[in-house]
Amino acid sequence: MKALRIKLGGEDRVVFRCPACESCHNIVPGRWRWNGDVDSPTFSPSVRVTWGNTKSASCCHFFVTNGRVKFCADSTHALAGQEVDLPDLTSDEVAFWSEGRLRPHGGGA
Ligand SMILES: [Zn+2]
Repeated sequence: MKALRIKLGGEDRVVFRCPACESCHNIVPGRWRWNGDVDSPTFSPSVRVTWGNTKSASCCHFFVTNGRVKFCADSTHALAGQEVDLPDLTSDEVAFWSEGRLRPHGGGA
């Protein structure tokens, strides 16, 4: 399972593991189109996650198509410009996210 539909803070989300950030990102179904497939997900349009302050902001920007993730060149990590398989969520991650708790430091967004 590469994607998991959960409730996060009372809101529907779809979480998935990012192989570049070694953490999970999520989308809000309804704001993104999702094909509903947890093993071979497609999200559109692209997902762009930023964090940090404006002077040293980090960015992870990618397309997810049929379970493959294609990172855009403006990503600030080592996989920028590359396309790789979206990894499966671990059973620990599925258990964690299924609880619907927010991470204490706001990560995973
Ligand atoms: Zn990422």
